[in-house]
Amino acid sequence: MKKLLLLFITIVSCSDSEEFFENSYCIENINLIDAKKGLKENMTIVISKNEIIKIEKTSNLKLSEKNKIYDGTDKFIIPGLWDSHVHFAFERELASSMFNLFMAYGITSVRDTGGEINFLKKWKNKSISNPNLLPRVKIAGPLIDGKFNVYNGNSVYFPPLSVRTASIEETEAQVKELIQNGVDFLKAYEMLTPEQLQVITKIAKENQLKVTGHIPLSMDVITASNMGLNSIEHLRNIEMSSTSNSEELLNLRRVALENKEGLLGSSLRTSLHNSQRMSSIKNIDSTQLKKVLNVLAKNDTWQIPTLILYRGWAYQLYQNLEWRNTFEFLPIEIKNKWNDQIDMIESTDNTERKDFADWGQSMTKLMNKMNINFMAGTDTPIGFQTPGYSLHNELEMLVKSGFTALEAIEAATYNPALYFKMENKLGLIKEGHIADLIVLSDNPLNNITHTKKIEAVIKNGNLMNREYLDSLKNSQEKN
Ligand SMILES: [Zn+2]
Repeated sequence: MKKLLLLFITIVSCSDSEEFFENSYCIENINLIDAKKGLKENMTIVISKNEIIKIEKTSNLKLSEKNKIYDGTDKFIIPGLWDSHVHFAFERELASSMFNLFMAYGITSVRDTGGEINFLKKWKNKSISNPNLLPRVKIAGPLIDGKFNVYNGNSVYFPPLSVRTASIEETEAQVKELIQNGVDFLKAYEMLTPEQLQVITKIAKENQLKVTGHIPLSMDVITASNMGLNSIEHLRNIEMSSTSNSEELLNLRRVALENKEGLLGSSLRTSLHNSQRMSSIKNIDSTQLKKVLNVLAKNDTWQIPTLILYRGWAYQLYQNLEWRNTFEFLPIEIKNKWNDQIDMIESTDNTERKDFADWGQSMTKLMNKMNINFMAGTDTPIGFQTPGYSLHNELEMLVKSGFTALEAIEAATYNPALYFKMENKLGLIKEGHIADLIVLSDNPLNNITHTKKIEAVIKNGNLMNREYLDSLKNSQEKN
């Protein structure tokens, strides 16, 4: 009896002992959501320096009053979001504002899919030197393109985002130089030859880097995927490989790509898109499509469909009040420029664009059902997409394309971490992980648009409250 009583006293005093975490703060009684655990209610998360050091049921952890405590009651916490398709170099005057806007909207990491290498390195280095306040930046450097490169700086629509490589040797030299320059992945573009893509994937593999890209117009999707293209941006050119006459279409493209008329790369590409894209979408062959999708699934070729880019264009979603209001957070020159450009766009019949946007969503749905992996990306600032804000639109588009809310969150948290082999440190809410987190006032699993209801953003352990995030948004106009 005496023994039992002693045991009882020990248990009571043990559960009564209050825990104190030095140089830390605790988020108490919050509802945790991540891609692997789903929803865990009433949890306490302890953050020390830049790391999550403890996660426990709130009822199992008695916190001493000496702790710094953030009350998470009725709130939700998700991992920091990634926008996996951005361009710092597309509107250079906007680049400095992009950092603040990403943070204000909970985008704690971005993947830049193309721009001049030194310009991008500047932003990447800035973020490395200030990880508590700036988003993590992964860069590809310039688009690696072929002899008739598309983004050659010949017009405002095609700024010099690419490098022209006119031979296999030039491609090889360029890839090696980029790797020496510290790129995090490589981006292959549409005017490459199959031999040029081959050399890119080969060197990338030797250096354990991923290659993303558009399917070169000189190739079909199956060959590019088999060659080791790890991911495809915008579902680009998949339709041309998914018709019953896909071989014939490929041969026609190869003849055109000889470019006997000496067109600009951008014009040549546009003419090929114009002649094959919509006709392909109308003639998708279910057997051929199945073959394509099976290869993508088997090879683990990921997709970054940038649905909001296409849908935003086709349905002029940038006219929506909520979207339009975010222009207030842009530097005044950019805001005026975008408003002028939008005013010039006539409300002509957009049937083809709409069909294409709808097709992208149906493809996304199919691919997701086949367990092909996705990352959420927007192409901001292209398409009048306000940095940061636009990623939340893409999450909504993924859900409208058949993703569960949790799958959409996965595409913007765990998957990009996995893509960059950071999954042991980032992308989940887990002890030992870097504390990149977002506190929401409402449950995103009930409605994905709740990812916009941000109460606080935590970057590298640094908690930024709503007031601070608003100051980041409003710092733009004064710039
Ligand atoms: Zn892009």
